[in-house]
Amino acid sequence: MSEYSFFEDVLGYIDKSASYTTHPQGLIDQIKQCNSIFKMYFPIRLDNGEYKVIEAYRAQHSHHKTPVKGGIRYSRHVNEDEVKALAALMTFKCALLDVPFGGAKGGIKIRRAEYSKNEIEKITRRYAFELIKKDFIGPAVDVPAPDYGTGAQEMAWIADTYSAFHSDTINASACVTGKPLTMFGIHGRTEATGRGVFFGLREAVSYEDDMTKLGLTVGLEGKKVIVQGLGNVGFHSAKFLQEGGATIIGIAEYDGGIYDPEGLDIEEVAQHRRDTGSILNFKNSQKIETGTDLLEYECDILVPAALENQITEENAPRIKAKIIGEAANGPVSKNAEEILLKNGVMIIPDIYLNAGGVTVSYFEWLKNLSRMSFGKLEKRYDYLNNERLANAIESASGQKLSNSQRDAIIKGASEEDLVNSGLEEAMVNAYKEMRETAKKHNLFDMRTAAFILAINKISVSYLEQGIFP
Ligand code: NAD
Repeated sequence: MSEYSFFEDVLGYIDKSASYTTHPQGLIDQIKQCNSIFKMYFPIRLDNGEYKVIEAYRAQHSHHKTPVKGGIRYSRHVNEDEVKALAALMTFKCALLDVPFGGAKGGIKIRRAEYSKNEIEKITRRYAFELIKKDFIGPAVDVPAPDYGTGAQEMAWIADTYSAFHSDTINASACVTGKPLTMFGIHGRTEATGRGVFFGLREAVSYEDDMTKLGLTVGLEGKKVIVQGLGNVGFHSAKFLQEGGATIIGIAEYDGGIYDPEGLDIEEVAQHRRDTGSILNFKNSQKIETGTDLLEYECDILVPAALENQITEENAPRIKAKIIGEAANGPVSKNAEEILLKNGVMIIPDIYLNAGGVTVSYFEWLKNLSRMSFGKLEKRYDYLNNERLANAIESASGQKLSNSQRDAIIKGASEEDLVNSGLEEAMVNAYKEMRETAKKHNLFDMRTAAFILAINKISVSYLEQGIFP
């Protein structure tokens, strides 16, 4: 078996999808290339006084639209191939969801748990400084966000470092998204990727003919779900799926899994992990020694939400799920996908399903550029208008509305309401487009449909620039 290359897998998806289009080969070659990659080494001084050299990357896959955008990952597995692949996926994700950015990704090769908070701050700020030096970050250039192993705290350090070097740049806070609310972040960004996964899967199970082919009923109600990885994306995906009526029967983590066919309460599992440091030994659950074994358990929907290359040609033949919702990036290898598709497993691809994060990041970037929260201008106007409407309903019907009915009518939309509504609209529309493309080409393979759409949208940008007429 040849060595696995995530980037080669992505190139394979592009080639396969391009064969359904009529674009010139030169355009496809340009779309495939990673436009710039910056590999860096820098030293930090550890708390014990010793020095450590850190390896890190930032890949800008496509400059067809700027700024480019993509998360920063902290993991000991980070390497050039992975960063390039993840940056490429960002390009197609943004195109698919009509988010006007090119794709990028960053990574720092560290095992996070080995460093203190102080050391992580030093690493983050030094990484930001290296990006600033090479003009690899900026509101109009390249806008990072959180990914595996990072969150709002790291984004705050990056924004602060960037601002310190750009005190005369009015849009400095738009240099990074996923920031804390107190540092010009946006309501709903933390849970956005998981919420998007929920909207995407809810959409996927809403089509009767598609579900009939899989032997499933319509709707999320009662669907049995297994989730791999209870981090930001996994936890929020599971939480919203559970609230939407699904039953979470299994959760896999790096140190093992838990299984309960009656259902695991996701908030309680998260609390158990905060209390004990692990999901294992959660009340009434069966302990699974090796987390990846859970991927092979019987379920309706499998949601890998940890890392790439989790379902390979080795375990793919034993997967029993009817639907795989790729919440992580690249959890199913290309070879595994061929086996799964032959076995009739529906795969909802990462470039669609986890695009909620970048969609809400786009809203945050816009908020930073406008320096105003969404809804601020119209909220009071809407409130007064709605109040008049409620009064009119009462006088026309001759009946008083209950307090809750009245509140529901008159309350104007909060920033979070608007963000969630924008996210839902984006996810629902993109699913419809993806499904129509699949139907047009008689494809069961939703990834190819997603890539065809994205390639077509990227090609329009090149045409607009007068390239590849
Ligand atoms: P995270 O660091 O918050 O969580 C990852 C979780 O996976 C952790 O709980 C970790 O313990 C667990 N994990 C690690 N190895 C595992 C293994 N072998 N088996 C089971 N669990 C394992 O990361 P995240 O932000 O939730 O990202 C997860 C995936 O989602 C990544 O592929 C990332 O690229 C993708 N993604 C994240 C975002 C985002 O907004 N954070 C957006 C789009 C895509």
